[in-house]
Amino acid sequence: MTGYALAKNMLSVFKLTATIRLGKKRQNEFDYRQNQITLSPAVARGTNGRSLYIAAHEAGHAIQATNTVKIAIELLHLITAVAIGIIVAFVCMLIFSTDLTEEGALLVVTTISFAIWGLVPYLLLEILLEIDATIRAKKYLQVINTWNNKARNTMLIGIANMILAQSSKILFCIYMSLLIYRLATTGV
Ligand SMILES: [Zn+2]
Repeated sequence: MTGYALAKNMLSVFKLTATIRLGKKRQNEFDYRQNQITLSPAVARGTNGRSLYIAAHEAGHAIQATNTVKIAIELLHLITAVAIGIIVAFVCMLIFSTDLTEEGALLVVTTISFAIWGLVPYLLLEILLEIDATIRAKKYLQVINTWNNKARNTMLIGIANMILAQSSKILFCIYMSLLIYRLATTGV
């Protein structure tokens, strides 16, 4: 069985309307807006544990994509966009404004600190969705007796990458707010 066939089977077992398309090299993802799985040529045609795990993981995202999850993603996208907008605007204000009073500067700094934390809920949702897709992929491969060492190693690499990517983003948020807090308390 190929990764493409496995993803297709999973979609039909769970009675899902998601579509599958062929992507570029290393492009394996699920698009919640388009309700579409993209598989790289290697994964789509591959029959080894790695290809099957990745295909099952992306189909796992398709299974979790209920309306509630889609609305949550859109909402947190919006909050993240607003937060980034506020951060950029207020940082510019801090850098370029020459007539900011001390109180004004403190207000700008406080707003930036709060806006930074507006990014965190989206990062946490991403972690939850990744863990959920990982569990679904493992379960499905076990049920159809295709779970093996290669599949497990691919899963572990995926988890490690996710932890590295998300925790570095969250650490960046913590670092930035500490930096801004210091700026506020030592005077701008
Ligand atoms: Zn994923």
